[in-house]
Amino acid sequence: MSSKLLMIPGPIEFDPSVMAKMGQPTLSHVAPAFIESFGRALEMMREVWLAPSGQPFIIAGSGTLAMDMAGANLIEVGDKVLVISTGYFGERYAELLTRYGANVTFLQSEVGDIVPYETVESELASGKYKLMTFTHVDTSTGVLVDAKKMGELAQKNNVLSILDGVCSVAGEEIRQEEWGIDVVVTASQKAVGVPPGLALLVASEKAMTVWKNHKTPVGNYYCDWNLWLPIMQAYEARKPSYFATPPVNLIQALERSLELILEEGMDMRFARHKRLAQKFRNEMRSLGLSFIPKSAGVTANTLTAPYYPEDVNGGEFLRKVGENGVVIAGGLLPSHKTQYFRVGHMGIVNDEHIDRTAGAIKNALQVVA
Ligand code: PMP
Repeated sequence: MSSKLLMIPGPIEFDPSVMAKMGQPTLSHVAPAFIESFGRALEMMREVWLAPSGQPFIIAGSGTLAMDMAGANLIEVGDKVLVISTGYFGERYAELLTRYGANVTFLQSEVGDIVPYETVESELASGKYKLMTFTHVDTSTGVLVDAKKMGELAQKNNVLSILDGVCSVAGEEIRQEEWGIDVVVTASQKAVGVPPGLALLVASEKAMTVWKNHKTPVGNYYCDWNLWLPIMQAYEARKPSYFATPPVNLIQALERSLELILEEGMDMRFARHKRLAQKFRNEMRSLGLSFIPKSAGVTANTLTAPYYPEDVNGGEFLRKVGENGVVIAGGLLPSHKTQYFRVGHMGIVNDEHIDRTAGAIKNALQVVA
């Protein structure tokens, strides 16, 4: 563990047994022991995503690449897409999909709020959309969208759905298959609990069928499921294969982290994230702080985004918290960047981490206020 506690919304603190995998001698990507790790990681992803018939993909890259892979394989020029945005990362998805020729309609929430479900429903009811995307937890605002409800709306209107779960998978409750969400994308460095470097997603049978029926070539070579699906299938069948060199140590670290996640159990994990988020927010409230999300119903459990008290200099405050041994993050949303800060609490986060972080913040406020 680093000497300072890393409490930003990713990367986060990682379990020592996960970090040990990063330092092991690197195996061949076709060594039987590595094939076994890759195969097990794919199998465990289905359990963590709660998507028993889904197709998992693990590739070297960050969360943006997972978003890109879903977009590249599901969009053809002229497809109509609804992007539902609660902040910074919705804008990214709209821009990304436009590169593939999507005709994007963009619904942007007020800062700290969601786009009302009635607005989404009436837009989808127009019947013109092939696909919709939404950010489960927007890391710039700490706003949580009701993923179950979004899955229902998408299914009811026969629209494919992509959930950006970079700041939610393995922290917030997601039951991909039961909730009818077609693609759930994430990255390794947040609640999944592995250092940065893996793009992860699980696609539904419906999404795979839409992809199989595409008429024009997939517009991104490295992301093309034609090239990656046989690799994922080979590793699951415990057979050697090669398209592009997999990040061996990261995938072994992923295997270890997924084991830890499943040992805890998904329900317990969701409940722990909720409990610790509430505890942290109560601590912040007791210091007189208020939050970007407008109500408890739209507040994430993986991070908290409090406003600085008036007359506190953000840079000075963050520096002081750092001197107190805890690293937290500044604002990200351009319009509000200097008005708030962000604290991640996901993955292996525990009561002691919350107590240390709240203590460091309390002390910093006393000094800089
Ligand atoms: N979506 C969300 C919700 C995120 O929080 C992030 C990263 N903070 C991304 C997408 C992009 O992921 P990455 O930085 O790993 O490319």
